[in-house]
This record gives sequence, structure tokens and C-alpha cells, in this order.
Amino acid sequence: MTPGQWLGLLGGGQLGRMFCHAAQAMGYQVMVLDPDLEGPAASVADKHLCAAYDDAQALDHLADYCQAFTTEFENVPAQSLAILARRGHVAPGARAVEIAQDRMIEKTFIQSLGVQVAPHIAVNTLKDLDHVPSSLFPGILKASRLGYDGKGQVRVASLEQAKHAYIDHLEQVAAVLEGMVPFVEEISVVLARGRDGQCVVFPPARNVHHHGILAVSHISGQPSKVYEQAVASAQTIAEGLGYHGVLCVEFFVLADGQVVVNEIAPRPHNSGHYTQNACVTSQFEQQVRAMSGLPLGSTELLAPCVMLNILGDVWFPYDTDERVEPDLASVLAIPNVSLHLYGKKEARPSRKMGHINVVDQNFANAVDRANEVVEILNLPIRASLSSH
Ligand code: AMP
Repeated sequence: MTPGQWLGLLGGGQLGRMFCHAAQAMGYQVMVLDPDLEGPAASVADKHLCAAYDDAQALDHLADYCQAFTTEFENVPAQSLAILARRGHVAPGARAVEIAQDRMIEKTFIQSLGVQVAPHIAVNTLKDLDHVPSSLFPGILKASRLGYDGKGQVRVASLEQAKHAYIDHLEQVAAVLEGMVPFVEEISVVLARGRDGQCVVFPPARNVHHHGILAVSHISGQPSKVYEQAVASAQTIAEGLGYHGVLCVEFFVLADGQVVVNEIAPRPHNSGHYTQNACVTSQFEQQVRAMSGLPLGSTELLAPCVMLNILGDVWFPYDTDERVEPDLASVLAIPNVSLHLYGKKEARPSRKMGHINVVDQNFANAVDRANEVVEILNLPIRASLSSH
């Protein structure tokens, strides 16, 4: 698939928008299938098919134009990817996406590869909770499907609370009860794997979440045993899936340095946004290269980086309905700051609106400058130097 041809994308969110930018920068045209009329990707796509992900006619139309397809959203019907696979190359494939769509299936699969996951039990009915060992409390009850950024999750301290939470929030849906992992930090590994099995791995990111949503990623570029272990596990998972495309694996790091997989995402990931300014190749360019069957790019880190997420809360500094434009000019006056906004018209609390990458050859300087941004935008989490 040489530049100039059409690439097909399922999903129209910010990841799709940044995919379009990367593809277009390389001379490709992108056709986006997304049911939302005004999604972030639709407004920059070369062509937008506004239809459901399983609309047979739309899939047919997509396949008439494009010979390679990808997704920016793990909850597209795997069946749609299987249909497109009959007409061209699909990266990632239906099976990998299907596994990542269901927490229980995903955990079972990862465990079967000898990679550690959080202790858990499937909860498909209220009765299943009677078999939960007490060691899983305190825990988190999570919907098996369609949860993200902490959505569809309830923290429970006891069996009684778990039962209430299940009845109130999750009855009739398949769920997983996970024991709370006493992690000392969270890290993630983004990799790209080609059709030929070639695998390239970006430097791991250390991530801090706020209310279940990524707030800050730190990429110091310092090697560590923990990172080596995480990279090896991520590669094992990619190989086990026969994966093709960009994959993210999120980990908890325990006090003894062991890593435990939290979840996987069969697409570029928020914690890989730093690659846009800090690496030779961005995760989105890598997605373009992988699906097109081109050689994968270098994942070399050009400079340490801090990535700050900008949520809609930034537009509502007084915790009221009063909307205030953030002082982005002051943010951009700070050296080495790159702003990425997703073009979302409406800012809402907790909604991902954009991110900021701060790069510097000296990681401590990147942290200091990131904290100047934190001050100006009144972000909830400060960047920090600490590491495992
Ligand atoms: P998730 O949507 O599953 O990635 O969860 C969002 C965030 O909630 C994670 O990044 C963790 O900070 C926290 N979390 C989720 N599951 C667990 C767990 N089993 N133990 C401790 N923290 C968790």
C-alpha cells in the first residue's frame, strides 16, 4: 500500500484524527467510518462515511476504496473487521480485537501465555459473588465489555458492597471482580508489529491517573529492569495474538519490581501520545506503516518527555457552569511545549480535549516546564521526577 492510496479507518475519535494527520502527512487519503456526524476524525478525514460500524453497505463502500483497514476504537464489532479482511488487509485483526473487547477473555488469554494479570473472578450472576475468595477484597468490579477510562467500574471493600454494586450498576452484564493490586506505579508499553512479525517497541511510559483517567505520562528514557520485563511481556502478548498493528499493554508495577498486566488496547494509546514530539516515529505513523505493509519506523527517543492530558475540566475552573477559555498563549510561551487539541466543540468535565507534550534533553527540565503548564491550566496532577 504505497502513499497516495486510500486507507480505511473504523472509529472517529481523537485517535482517529491523529491517525488521519499521520496518514495524510505521508500522502495517504483516509476514509473514516463513524456514526457520529461531527467526530474529531470525521472533520479531518478525506472522506467520512457516516454510518454504523456494522452497516453492510458502508463496509462495502469502504472496501471499494481501500485495501487496508484499521481501527482506533476497540469496541467496533469484530465481525466488521472479519468482513473487511475478505477485501484487504486488516490491522489489527478481528481475533485480537475480540480478545481485547472482553476483560475476562483478555485476562484468560494473557494468563495462558504465562504473563501475570490481576487476581480476578468472572461475575455473570449475583450468585457468582458467593464464590469470591475474601482475598479479592478490597477489589474493583468491572463490566467485562465496553468499559474504559474507569467507566463501568465500582470499587468495593467487601462482599456486601460488591453485591450492592452489582445490583445497582452491573446486573445483567458480564463482569469481572479484580482484587485491588497494591501497585507502586503504573507503566505502559506501546509497540508495533508488522505483517512479517517484525516488532518495534517504544520506550515505556510511567503513567499517573486521576479518577481513573490518564493525567500524566513520564518518559525519562532511563533503562530499568522493570521496563525490560514489561517490554518482554508486551512482546509475548503481541506474538501470542499474532498481532499486526499498534498495541498498548498497561501494567501495574509491584513493590518487588514485578509487573502485572492491567489491560491491553489494540490501537494507539493515550500514553503513547508522547511519541508525536519525542520519538523519531509517532505511534500514529507506525499504525500507518504497519497496516500498509511498509517497514516500521525507528522508536528511538529523541528527548525525555512529559505528556499532560487536557480534560474538559480545564474550561470550567470554578467548578460551576461558567466556561472560561484557558490561557493557552501563556502555555505556548513555555519553551519545548507542543499543544495538541482534538477539535471537540464542546468541553465537558472528564472529556479528553487534548494533550501537551513537553520535551527536554534533561528530564528534570521537562518536569519543571510541565509543572508550569500544570499551574497555568490548573491541572489536577503535577509531573514528578520519582521513578521505581
Ligand atoms: P482501567 O480502566 O481498568 O484501566 O482502570 C483505570 C485505572 O483504575 C487504572 O489505571 C488503575 O489506576 C485503577 N485500577 C484498575 N484496576 C485496578 C486494580 N485491579 N487494582 C488497582 N488499581 C486498579
